Amino acid sequence: AHDPVTVTVTGAAGQIGYALLFRIASGAMLGPDVPVRLRLLEVPQAVRAAEGTALELTDCAFPLLAGLDVMDDPAKAFDGANIALLVGARPRGPGMERAELLSANAGIFSVQGRAINDGAAPDFRAVVVGNPANTNALIASAHAPDVPARRFTAMTRLDHNRAVAQLAAKAGAAVSEVRNVAIWGNHSASQYPDISHATVSGRAASSLVDQEWIEGQFIPRVSQRGAEVIAVRGGSSAASAANAAIEHMKLWIQGTPAGDWTSMAVPSDGSYGVPEGLFASVPVTAAGGDYAVVRDLDISDFSRSRIDASVAELAAERDAVRGLGLL
Ligand code: NDP
Repeated sequence: AHDPVTVTVTGAAGQIGYALLFRIASGAMLGPDVPVRLRLLEVPQAVRAAEGTALELTDCAFPLLAGLDVMDDPAKAFDGANIALLVGARPRGPGMERAELLSANAGIFSVQGRAINDGAAPDFRAVVVGNPANTNALIASAHAPDVPARRFTAMTRLDHNRAVAQLAAKAGAAVSEVRNVAIWGNHSASQYPDISHATVSGRAASSLVDQEWIEGQFIPRVSQRGAEVIAVRGGSSAASAANAAIEHMKLWIQGTPAGDWTSMAVPSDGSYGVPEGLFASVPVTAAGGDYAVVRDLDISDFSRSRIDASVAELAAERDAVRGLGLL
């Protein structure tokens, strides 16, 4: 039998947490043979709500749920953690300045980074979902100097899935026929959803759609899909974000399918002109529990300018956090 894997979820009482925890406990992330110990981290005022979620998790009698704890102490939450899904973050309040938002989140992610550094398991890996996700990942990693930076990642799989779904719909194909879509840059409105390497049923996507659709419909639709969901649903995307977080981890651990890749924000090694150390989304393949950035893709002038714009935003976020003395 497999040893239980300790999975820490922050912001466990939030709406993404509510959509995430039951699927992790059912085996959707780590597979049907891997028991999980769940650690639910919350801020003190949300601990009671997280305890409510824990009651429901208990009531599912999941055979794979080998442990369940709710806490507000990051040191306890990350002690021995193998996997972390860092969902909890400070949302932008009305009239809140950007510097305030960055500093509130830097406070959260620096504390968590230190707790991870001190206590996490040697095979620790994390995905940051809470926004600004890329910069939060940078901050957590900077405060965990003993953990390889590449074990911290930020989620762009939801953007990736949105791009796959939009391209499939446009081409009149099943989503399973779409390969090699990529998300570049920041998980923000500046992101670049790229179909220049994508295929649909083996045919180049660029031969099926025109540049006008890409620039006028596809890119704005994907990058503003979160706002569209809020407008229509009356609440932000939660189940689709949770689903993407599960896929992000699952693909990283179990590997990407042959002939395809996924998108994740990882610390740059300088490739594709992204300054080293910035957490930018790139196409990656994964195998044997590790990932590798896809090398040597041709980047068109259009792609270049879109990637550069989003990366410039990431550099500005990093500089702002540095300017506040938080990095
Ligand atoms: P959600 O569960 O809806 O969202 C959590 C985070 O995910 C937000 O930062 C949100 O960003 C982000 N996010 C990233 N991608 C998406 C996406 N595609 N769609 C929607 N959200 C996305 O927020 P709730 O307010 O319901 O819950 C947050 C919980 O976190 C609260 O219970 C709070 O107490 C907790 N928290 C916990 C902390 C901790 O454990 N130390 C620290 C801070 C908060 P955005 O705001 O941009 O939508």
